[in-house]
Amino acid sequence: MRYLSTRGEAAQLAFDDVLLAGLATDGGLYAPFAYPHVAPKDIAALAGVPYADAAARLIAPFLTEEASRAALPAQTAAAYTSFRHRAIAPLTQIADNLFVLELFHGPTLAFKDLAMQLLGRMMNDVLEKRNLRATIVGATSGDTGAAAIEAFRGLPRVDVFILYPHGRVSDVQRRQMTTVADENVHTIALQGTFDDAQNILKRLFRNQTFRERVCLAGVNSINWARVVAQMVYYFTSGVALGAPHRHVSFAVPTGNFGDVLAGYIAKHMGLPIERLIVATNANDILARALATGRYEPRGVTQTQSPSMDIQLSSNFERLFFDACARDHAAVRAAFASLDQSGAFEIPAPALSAIRAEFDAMSVGEAETTDEIARSWRDAGYVLDPHTATGVRAARARLAQDPATPVIALSTAHPAKFPEAIERAIGHRPRLPDALAAKLEGPERFTVLENDEARVAAFISERARAAAA
Ligand SMILES: *Cc1c(COP(=O)(O)O)cnc(C)c1O
Repeated sequence: MRYLSTRGEAAQLAFDDVLLAGLATDGGLYAPFAYPHVAPKDIAALAGVPYADAAARLIAPFLTEEASRAALPAQTAAAYTSFRHRAIAPLTQIADNLFVLELFHGPTLAFKDLAMQLLGRMMNDVLEKRNLRATIVGATSGDTGAAAIEAFRGLPRVDVFILYPHGRVSDVQRRQMTTVADENVHTIALQGTFDDAQNILKRLFRNQTFRERVCLAGVNSINWARVVAQMVYYFTSGVALGAPHRHVSFAVPTGNFGDVLAGYIAKHMGLPIERLIVATNANDILARALATGRYEPRGVTQTQSPSMDIQLSSNFERLFFDACARDHAAVRAAFASLDQSGAFEIPAPALSAIRAEFDAMSVGEAETTDEIARSWRDAGYVLDPHTATGVRAARARLAQDPATPVIALSTAHPAKFPEAIERAIGHRPRLPDALAAKLEGPERFTVLENDEARVAAFISERARAAAA
């Protein structure tokens, strides 16, 4: 498999190069030339297969080189040993035809571990093979940073710099990043929002001098390898509920659109998915875009689900690319308009292509709290506030179509958001002991103003790849 940029003006690359590059040099995102097809009998054969083995089977066709395919089973096996649940991504039923897919059993208690633990191993192996060092710079609204730090801490060939919006991530999220003592880990508290952090990151990637100087590699949710790693649990959970013989729908708490895009990829690989339901919080750009056809970011509102407090859903560009029948010029025009006038119109055929597969629903703060209380009352199950938006959207779907099971992706452990849970059900969930102990250490972070040059200088001074 080879990869092309959505904007059509960057070099076509092999998987290993896409893995290191993150964003394409033309500002676009890498997409595979085609989605590999998984035959119904091969989907059925995933039943009972350990998660790491299923991951190796499903991801292999996306790799370009035979040597990378040969290394994959060992990488997936290593990636999932740090998980606290044997099933890695277990399903729990909380109502008729309503299932929660628990994606929070990894080291940072959020779903990002599922992709990041694998990405760390894959990147390390590529760098070893090429005898290179790399600098990882990520922007996080909370969970990506911690997951990246856990995946890359202590690796000799990589330095990690994580930008997070100062004062806008939860206590647990911040401590997960700042109490890590490894010297290759650097946390930057940016005086701005997550979108500011993401914008700086995008500009750093477009700054060719900086990019080469520090051997910049990206691990944000735009990294294709992350999307591919997330595709796996759509298959394993679908199979657990009877795929390929039965259709399922998925409700996905969404911010940057990476997780739900992975569902779309799974569907295009052959998994029988009925609907993909995008659940947003009050930051509802995706729900508005699907309803009106106009993609228009507004100011970011802080909510109790901070990892979804995003207005620019970067991965949406990959869906838009497909929906426009892979017309690079249409993608360039849309994103130029977004840069210049702050919005673009989704062409009518593209909008109907998107609506044919996706529903979207914005879930407000009161409804989120109400959903946490309801699932606790009805099923004795505690949802984190991100997951609650997905479960709410899943219930709305079931009211329309009670016959098709809906799997709501649970993206974080409730103990990461104790205030929100206490507000809803009157008590705080407990952090797993191993994590609680880890968060006790002293915090290390640097506050920087919202300024690209300042951030670039900070990184250049500290990245070991720049010293060579
Ligand atoms: C990152 C994150 C999301 C949003 O996922 P995207 O891939 O950005 O859409 C939702 N919930 C939690 C807990 C997250 O960490």
